[in-house]
Amino acid sequence: MSKIAYIGLPAHGHTNPTLPVVQELIQHGHDVLYYNAESFRTKVAPTGVDFRAYPEPMPTEREVAQAIRELIDASLLLSGLSEQLTPFMLAEIERERPDLILYDTTAMWGYLAARKYHIPHICSVTHFVLNGSQGVLGRGFVRFLWSAIPHLPKLIRWKRRMKQRYGSIVGGITEYADLNLVFTSKEFHPANIFIDGRWRGRFRFVGPSIKASTRDKSDFPFEQLNGERLVYISLGTINNLDLGFYRAAFAAFADYPAQFILSVGKNTDIAQLGEIPANFIVRPYVPQLEILQRVDAFITHGGMNSVHEGLYYGVPEVVVPHQLEQLLNAKRVAATGASVVLGEQYPYGRVTAAELREELNKVLADSSYRQHASQMGETLKAAGGYLQAVAEIEGFLETEYRVQSTALQVLSAE
Ligand code: UDP
Repeated sequence: MSKIAYIGLPAHGHTNPTLPVVQELIQHGHDVLYYNAESFRTKVAPTGVDFRAYPEPMPTEREVAQAIRELIDASLLLSGLSEQLTPFMLAEIERERPDLILYDTTAMWGYLAARKYHIPHICSVTHFVLNGSQGVLGRGFVRFLWSAIPHLPKLIRWKRRMKQRYGSIVGGITEYADLNLVFTSKEFHPANIFIDGRWRGRFRFVGPSIKASTRDKSDFPFEQLNGERLVYISLGTINNLDLGFYRAAFAAFADYPAQFILSVGKNTDIAQLGEIPANFIVRPYVPQLEILQRVDAFITHGGMNSVHEGLYYGVPEVVVPHQLEQLLNAKRVAATGASVVLGEQYPYGRVTAAELREELNKVLADSSYRQHASQMGETLKAAGGYLQAVAEIEGFLETEYRVQSTALQVLSAE
């Protein structure tokens, strides 16, 4: 059995898919060290991992939320984090010497530690592979490039400092491995010139990793559901402080013939939303997986997990992206015929009550949205999820083990 270190990013969307994976690895007898911010301990530790906290200060959820709005700000946050966490990670890995490192695509400090100590490593990709998928974004990507220009000197200085300290193993802010587990299906992923070209064979599409028992426990008054049509609305866990959007939803649907569940996030002050219409149940956090199994439509910000979870349960979506990565997800799900997209113009997420109502009408009235959602959901299930991820990890470990023992035999024969 092996000792495996998972090196993560403190964001729910990056963490949730890994929980069923590490729990399954432990059930197979492996030891798993799990590195993340202290604030994620209560979420992660119940899987049975040996949880190790990053040294503070770590960015707060609000700081991550602000940075993640713009790809360039996210890049600056991640470059700073990699500079802060790499010395800690190197010391940990030198002491622990795991047989395998699994690292989140954004956790450069995990990649560097694996390279420095020659530890076999696998990259965990919880969103679409951005390199090579930019074409889908069109003008949105050009905007990102323009916004990055003023920050280039800072990023160049960062890279120079990192190279001086850690040498040629330093690459970009994101570095892939020889094996990369992508938590979606090949059918749902946008066509990608790298994955299908130069990097062929290095990316395995294992599907979304969904297991309700690994999620944070949250109560929900299911007894208040009255059997009418049901619609779920959420902007996810990070970038969800959008009172204007919630008020537009109230205005759009207060007299709509359906019941609505609205998850507003833990930092939104519900009292500030004004009068809540009688057909709304508003909560800071809800058991999303259970709710999606009962709803007729999902109005979502287009976070990768939410988009997947909706499709997984065959739910048609109205996607209102609030940043560039969500725009990519939104465009992709719309291309499959399972959703409509609203508020896709920069600065994203701006919608009126009338638009919300009109687009919800569309996905409820036309059954093809639900059919396409179910079809795509089937591809996500068929990809295998966390069980397939574990099979890939164990297959990789076995190959590494064989390569190492052959090398040892050759050396001892010499
Ligand atoms: N989630 C949940 N209850 C809520 C809101 C969100 O369980 O009330 C979960 C949701 O199921 C998903 C994750 O939080 O797994 C949000 O991830 P996503 O990638 O959709 O968006 P992010 O929060 O990263 O923007």
